Amino acid sequence: MTNEAIDGPHEDNWRQVCENLRSEIGEAAYQSWIKPMTIRSIADGAARISVPTRFMRDWVIAHYVDRLGALWNAIDQSIDGVDISIQPERSLKASGEEASASIPAAAAAATTAAIDMAQGDTRRASDIGKVGISGPLDTRYTFDNFVVGKPNEFAYAAARRVAEASSVPFNPLFLYGGVGLGKTHLMHAIAQHICQQDPKRTVIYLSAEKFMYRFIRALKEQNTVDFKDMFRNVDVLMIDDVQFIGGKGATQEEFFHTFNALVDQGRQIVISSDKSPSDLEGMEERLQSRLNCGLVADIHATTYELRLGILESKADQLKVDVPRKMMEFLAHKITANVRELEGALNRVVAHAQLVGREITLETAQEVLHDLLRANDRRVTIEEIQKQVASHFNIRGSDMHSARRARSVARPRQVAMYLAKQLTSRSLPEIGRKFGGRDHTTVMHAVKKVEELRECDSSFAEDVELLRRMLEG
Ligand code: ADP
Ligand code: MG
Repeated sequence: MTNEAIDGPHEDNWRQVCENLRSEIGEAAYQSWIKPMTIRSIADGAARISVPTRFMRDWVIAHYVDRLGALWNAIDQSIDGVDISIQPERSLKASGEEASASIPAAAAAATTAAIDMAQGDTRRASDIGKVGISGPLDTRYTFDNFVVGKPNEFAYAAARRVAEASSVPFNPLFLYGGVGLGKTHLMHAIAQHICQQDPKRTVIYLSAEKFMYRFIRALKEQNTVDFKDMFRNVDVLMIDDVQFIGGKGATQEEFFHTFNALVDQGRQIVISSDKSPSDLEGMEERLQSRLNCGLVADIHATTYELRLGILESKADQLKVDVPRKMMEFLAHKITANVRELEGALNRVVAHAQLVGREITLETAQEVLHDLLRANDRRVTIEEIQKQVASHFNIRGSDMHSARRARSVARPRQVAMYLAKQLTSRSLPEIGRKFGGRDHTTVMHAVKKVEELRECDSSFAEDVELLRRMLEG
């Protein structure tokens, strides 16, 4: 990352922002879109970032700019936003980012147009605007665009209930689930639904980071009274990612009071978090128990069916034809969360359009090979043990037991071998997961399975089949 006009702390913060985003969006998207960025300057509370091409600029603006701003703001509250511009010609050549720089202008323009078209003007943030402090809402995040499946049906139903009720069905509604599983989507959907149904109701939607930032600013400017009034006069208060105020004493205190005041007045509160109320770290007990009082709805990890449904819906929204085979492949492979899944689809579509190629399974495998590799490693040893045990018809507990009969010892060795092949765990780690066995036992198992594969073709097939099932 080069820089000209930037001093140390800003540069460090920028690096931190990039790192944080990297962990959210995954390595592949990071390499494609974030890494080529260069920080230029900081002025008037905005960070100026440049990217090598127009295409990248549009893409980053459409997908990452809000998040960059929010992450930066969480580190340095004097930064309120991020401006993305195209890198000047001179540094472009010097930076050697030939891949994106050499995209023919016509192709780049065509892709930008395609993306603009696909996204229509739905990117436009709707402003609920009743109260000046509410965060912008993404108009794509509606109930209609939310694909419902087993893992999220309860959270979805609860969210709809809150959005449609004119009174307060439960308080608070506490939505929790892992990163990228649709919490923010549901929050925005609730806010937008309420505002459309009854424009007279005031809704404030804020990330917990923003809540904290506003509060601290009010403290500095000594107008906490206004701050309090602002929150205490809303009909619906929505705080996203509440885990961020864990350990932040004064903000928590203020939040707690606001919370109580609103609940006492029969106003609706909706909270999201990546943990359940009881698991929130650095959170005061009385606040935790208050959060637990209403309805706690968790969003579970996605299933294959849900992932496939989501891909179909996203492809529809992008108005592109995506072969079913490719969607099945992605739904099998990219299991971490919906954001990553969506990112993968977007990347393949953008790439295919950019180089004027058809969207096929092969394009996807090629464009996403780094991401796919990273996902391959996510098979857990527990999954391997379960799958292998059921394949050989032995009990799962035999993976850990001391029994040495060949009928259980062989499958156990196969599982160890696959654990070595498919995960990044070390031999001692693998040994521990198999009833605390020594790493030399694992080493022996790996060698044994390799030998057997050489001389016993039906055994080799068994192992291969298991490997494919686990990878698939
Ligand atoms: P979280 O807030 O839980 O980290 P988001 O709500 O930001 O996750 O979701 C990440 C992305 O995945 C968003 O673009 C969102 O629209 C999409 N998404 C998540 N779940 C679903 C779903 N069930 N249907 C459609 N899109 C979804
Ligand atoms: Mg979120």
